[in-house]
Amino acid sequence: MHDARVLELKRLGVHTLLVQFTDVHGVAKGKLVPLDQLASVLAHGAGFAGPSIAGTGLPRTGPRAEYMARGDLATLQPLPWWLGVARIVGDGHVAGEPFDACPRQVLRRQVARLAAEGWQLQLGIEPEFFLLRREADGSWRPADALDRLDKPSYDLQSLPRQAALLQALRAALEADGAEVQQIDHEDAHGQYELNFRHDQVLASCDRLMLFKLAAQRLAEQHGCVCSFMPKPWANQPGSGLHFHVSLWDGDRPAFDDLDEHGHLVDRAGRAGELPLARHFIAGVLAHSAALCAMAAPTVNSYKRLVVGESLSGTSWAPAYVAHGANNRTALVRTLPGRFEWRLPDASANPYLAAAGLIAAGLDGIARRLEPGPAIDDDLFALDLATIHARGIAVLPQSLAEAADALAVDAVLAEALGSTLHTQLLALQRDEWLQYARHVSAWELARYAAR
Ligand code: GLU
Ligand code: MG
Ligand code: MG
Repeated sequence: MHDARVLELKRLGVHTLLVQFTDVHGVAKGKLVPLDQLASVLAHGAGFAGPSIAGTGLPRTGPRAEYMARGDLATLQPLPWWLGVARIVGDGHVAGEPFDACPRQVLRRQVARLAAEGWQLQLGIEPEFFLLRREADGSWRPADALDRLDKPSYDLQSLPRQAALLQALRAALEADGAEVQQIDHEDAHGQYELNFRHDQVLASCDRLMLFKLAAQRLAEQHGCVCSFMPKPWANQPGSGLHFHVSLWDGDRPAFDDLDEHGHLVDRAGRAGELPLARHFIAGVLAHSAALCAMAAPTVNSYKRLVVGESLSGTSWAPAYVAHGANNRTALVRTLPGRFEWRLPDASANPYLAAAGLIAAGLDGIARRLEPGPAIDDDLFALDLATIHARGIAVLPQSLAEAADALAVDAVLAEALGSTLHTQLLALQRDEWLQYARHVSAWELARYAAR
């Protein structure tokens, strides 16, 4: 089977495989392997020093020191932006067994739990990103600084300037079989979004990693830096990574209780099944605090989700644990037959965010959780006292708070597996400590001469 693939790739001029996997931080890693090694990459994998990969917790010596990224043939595709190279996504294996702390394996376990119920999850991922340039003094600026525009949403002055890069990015995705749907300038200076059609959850996450890899490389070729930092500018919107989520029973949509207007209606699915969207969303809301650690995993993430920023009504990032029909000010925006989960940001590891989402949703279904009333209000227009009075929970406002929530969330701990749960918490607490101990320019300005 793969012999035919090798011949076909050779005809296309491919001579090298990029065996790629994703570390805990959502960063693509890998190595180049001659195409003739494909059989071995599929059977055993490409080998890496385990402890050199963040989040594995693997020892430096012995049989468990080797992290093998075993190629998934379904992902093999030539890269039009890297001549002669074809990417293949690897699943982590250690000592001949699937490695429980590999993010792709974490997601595979949740996909298998869905499959056991006869369900598949379709996921559309909406990446927002910044195109930046580094100045000689070390400061970062938008690549096409149109600071004179106070609201750059859908700006058509910078978009054509980046058209060559954006079209190359589109071609990179289309060569992977993606259906690119739209590309726009977003709400912040130098911020863009590129949307491609939803797919099976694992394939969507693989594609998002291809997107990140290609975007960073192509940006460099066009003289700028593609940044997935959630919130580079304090007073402008940050970069989300919204997830559009629908559940399927074969080719039949299973979120029957999200009507044609996106209202969550009180009806079971066909044949008297459960109202699946209702319970799934309720699970996602119930686990929101801990999910933050998986979908908004950096110190900087919490400058995007911050309550005060939302109150100014400009950031469009969620701060409150609520759902509402086509409500972009809520954490969960319900739509016909699907919902948009607005929590994840550009720094998230897509496999972990998706695995957490599924585990939370399945818990909601198993426990028949209720999501509470739909909110139609513009939540950004409500003051905090009103939010509290209405019993609406606020998302964690720091990585420390999110990690504390993840530490005690048994459902998400189980989904991550004990190795990754421990590793992720240790990394996040260390990151938080480094940040908390740092004395910033803001503090000096405020306190030095007081
Ligand atoms: N940039 C916003 C965020 O951080 C989202 C804007 C939009 O709705 O497209 O989530
Ligand atoms: Mg957007
Ligand atoms: Mg969106």
